[in-house]
Amino acid sequence: MEQKRQETKGMVHIVGAGSGAADLITVRGMHFLEQADVVIYAGSLVNPALLDYCKAECRIFNSAEMTLEEVLACIEEACANGETVVRLHTGDPSLYGAIQEQMDVLKQKGISFDITPGVSSFSGAAAAVQREFTLPGISQSLILTRMEGRTPVPERESLKKMAEHGCSMALFLSAGMTEAVQEALLAGAYTEDTPVAVVYKATWPEQKILRCHLGNFAEEVKKAGITKTAQILVGDFLEAAQTDAAHTTYERSKLYDPGFTTEFRQGTDQQ
Ligand code: SAH
Repeated sequence: MEQKRQETKGMVHIVGAGSGAADLITVRGMHFLEQADVVIYAGSLVNPALLDYCKAECRIFNSAEMTLEEVLACIEEACANGETVVRLHTGDPSLYGAIQEQMDVLKQKGISFDITPGVSSFSGAAAAVQREFTLPGISQSLILTRMEGRTPVPERESLKKMAEHGCSMALFLSAGMTEAVQEALLAGAYTEDTPVAVVYKATWPEQKILRCHLGNFAEEVKKAGITKTAQILVGDFLEAAQTDAAHTTYERSKLYDPGFTTEFRQGTDQQ
């Protein structure tokens, strides 16, 4: 363990903070925070309670108020002094985390880094509404995307095009554009009756869940006053139900079906 600590000196740990609750960070991410001399955290979205894992003398910077150049200068200086740096991103850093541009400069500068994944807000939101995205007979795919805003989305991935699949969907960065979202989704395979769940600050203490249908989605979100930090979950997976064996709108999984043999269990199909 001591050996491992030595190795982290002068390097950057890019860490996923998880979707909100301070105990949803990984054990590895928490240990890096405990060791850090410098932490640069995405203050607009990371729960500040996570900073309680840091040493008292740790220097903490809020990247919401910094440019990429300032973040990189801060990292470079700390690493040159042999310090351990944690760059703390919300959810999982690989989704809308703007980490590639950081990693590419770190590589150019010969500063070593590693990445610790995190619980993304789409997972936090599914947990909050207690639903499974991938129900047999309903949907076996999940689209993670966003509505085009000030940041463009490639034309081939426009929300309208993505909506043609009608599968389970989790929308990031789109809570402030609900009318456009509703219009684009209705132009695809979804209907006015398609269930929608808007999860504001999933897994934070102030989490709010709004359930509605696509037909009145924009209106309901407006009424609830939700404009940001929300996941918009869309699809029949939200309401598909099994009240008893005879009344189900999805199929049960083969994996646990007594009539289905797997690598680990013999089913009645092979007797
Ligand atoms: N890397 C992050 C996403 C960053 S982009 C992740 O994996 O979750 C920021 C967007 O993520 C927000 O606009 C919002 O749509 C979503 N988001 C982040 N945290 C959230 C939370 N706790 N609850 C709901 N949505 C959240």
